[in-house]
Amino acid sequence: METTKQQGTINVTSENIFPIIKKFLYSDHEIFLRELVSNAVDATQKLKTLASVGEFKGELGDLTIRVSIDPKKKTLTVSDRGIGMTAKEIDKYINQIAFSGAEEFMKKYKKDANAIIGHFGLGFYSSFMVSDKVEIVTKSHKRGKAVRWSCKGTTDYTIEEVDREDRGTDIILHLDKESDEFLKEERINEILKKYSKFLPVPIAFGKKKEWKDGKQVETDEDLIINNTEPAWTKKPADLKEEDYAAFYREIYPMSEDPLFHIHLNVDYPFNLTGILYFPKIRNNWEVQKNKIQLYANQVFVTDSVEGIVPDFLTLLHGVIDSPDIPLNVSRSYLQSDQNVKKISAHITKKVADRLKEIFTSDREQFESKWDDLKLFINYGMLTEEKFYDKAKDFALLKNVDGKYFTYDEYKKLIKENQTDQEKNLIYLYASDKEEQFSYIQAARDKGYDVLLMDGQFDTHFLNHLETKFESSHFIRVDSDVVDKLIKKEQTLESKLDKTLEGWLQPVFKSQLPGEGYYVTFEALDETQLPIMITQSEWSRRMKEMSKLTNGMNFYKDLPDSYNLVVNSNHPLILSLAGELKDSKGETAARFEEEMKQIKSDQESLEQLLKDKKYDELTQEEKDKREELTKLLDEKTAERDAALQAFAGEQPVVSQLIDLALLATNKLTGESLDRFVKRSVSLLGKQ
Ligand code: ADP
Repeated sequence: METTKQQGTINVTSENIFPIIKKFLYSDHEIFLRELVSNAVDATQKLKTLASVGEFKGELGDLTIRVSIDPKKKTLTVSDRGIGMTAKEIDKYINQIAFSGAEEFMKKYKKDANAIIGHFGLGFYSSFMVSDKVEIVTKSHKRGKAVRWSCKGTTDYTIEEVDREDRGTDIILHLDKESDEFLKEERINEILKKYSKFLPVPIAFGKKKEWKDGKQVETDEDLIINNTEPAWTKKPADLKEEDYAAFYREIYPMSEDPLFHIHLNVDYPFNLTGILYFPKIRNNWEVQKNKIQLYANQVFVTDSVEGIVPDFLTLLHGVIDSPDIPLNVSRSYLQSDQNVKKISAHITKKVADRLKEIFTSDREQFESKWDDLKLFINYGMLTEEKFYDKAKDFALLKNVDGKYFTYDEYKKLIKENQTDQEKNLIYLYASDKEEQFSYIQAARDKGYDVLLMDGQFDTHFLNHLETKFESSHFIRVDSDVVDKLIKKEQTLESKLDKTLEGWLQPVFKSQLPGEGYYVTFEALDETQLPIMITQSEWSRRMKEMSKLTNGMNFYKDLPDSYNLVVNSNHPLILSLAGELKDSKGETAARFEEEMKQIKSDQESLEQLLKDKKYDELTQEEKDKREELTKLLDEKTAERDAALQAFAGEQPVVSQLIDLALLATNKLTGESLDRFVKRSVSLLGKQ
């Protein structure tokens, strides 16, 4: 290229690349600045490399990259003192844009500006998203004249020689009408902070300010917006705990201190550095998710690592930097990328190794932090097989006394006492220490140990453990009476006569607190409570799990169902049965005599009709059969009504049921009020 001004046509196969850039890339306009600053950093780093191998012999001098805005001229300029470009290089790198198949690609990735820009090396051209005209004024570090390239967002450009003292490049954007926002200091600050905070070359934007006479005034000193040596780029040996803590605060100024960190450093078979932190995770875990920042050579790319690391790892915080993650492709492509798979497996392994290391070297510390780590670890074990295999050696179970055990330790602890008659190991657990207190107590009285499983998805997790542990079941302490939680050979005889049990049944039934309660009788130890409320492990768990997964809706919509278990060996129940017999026995027996007669009539009728098919029955026979059934129902109802009158005369019936409800925190509102008043009046009678 000679001294005269030249004109040319940018070599793209698609004539209308600029309209496309403007039209489709609108959502991510701000990234133009990331691209320009990154190019400036690259040019600077290249020069440093050349100098270090002796190919560039000049003075490096101040290499600060400067971003400046001129609201009057409506320009934004990015200046560097890097390698610069010769006219030839401009032609090669700027004018010749490889753009084959562009339109097809555009259609496919319409929404994903990043994809297009990276894929076609359009970094520099993204400046046309916000500009009417772009100029490049550049002087190569090699010998030769400086040049100015200028283009108005069409496929035509001009290039001419200009005077310029200094090596390096200025990219000058003449911002278009819609892009006024990029003339505002705060906006540029915000974008630089977002993408360039940790770039390896100092970036100056404006001047430092100081207070003078009660006013803020600019000093002569450049305001450097980035930290060129973030912690993750240093060697672990050069960093102290405080440095890791300080870096955490630098990236998450508002967050609580993390529990531990891991420094990642891999250079084969892929490049990856980073620092991950384990935050305290209790309940609001969705909020804590997806905070890892992803960088490529210190350029911020995204804070959504979904698809790049397994879901449970998105609970971690920190930074991952890898030039080997193909950042400019769609997420679905990412997930199938071999490099990404390797990276993901590597991080998973490192995380597990680190936890193991802390567990082994300082179990006390590990235990003290377990409650905050548990959700993360359990979630990982639930969703990543490989992580489970490693974590099963250090994952902990906590019992209601707050003691921690590894899986092996706990198995040893309960093996003797909690193996049932079918050789299943029964893990007992409580989900609420207060609410299930009486059940926990009953289990402990039997010498059982009770785990505390009060976490957000513990139900899911123990379901998973059941598939992993051999012949083992997890059973919540309130899912059955204690003697039946772990079924053993010996069973107790019932002291309650079967007829009396049959009479007590309708009495208790008449006083149930609502739908979904069923009365059952169990011959328990007389030291156990007279009445208990239990809820079957299976149906409760199905319900809990379907609530979490949004699936299995059949279970979710099922009403809760509880058993009202009457201890037929408890002295109170036995004496109540005695009183019932004294007061209603005669009447009940009389009804039962009549019922017996009806039943025997039914039997004779069935005997008579036994060889006839339903079609062959006469109307009279059908009517007779129906009449007997009705009669029996009526008598049964009359008997029950007579028995149930007992519950009205004997407040102990309701009192016992209410006590059982109270023990499980189910007595509230009006029922509770009634209970309190009844208790007071019962006390008065003593
Ligand atoms: P990419 O950076 O992905 O290669 P760009 O379109 O951003 O694509 O830039 C194309 C090329 O132009 C770069 O590879 C580089 O050779 C050259 N270039 C861009 N900006 C500068 C700069 N500030 N200094 C020197 N060369 C530059």
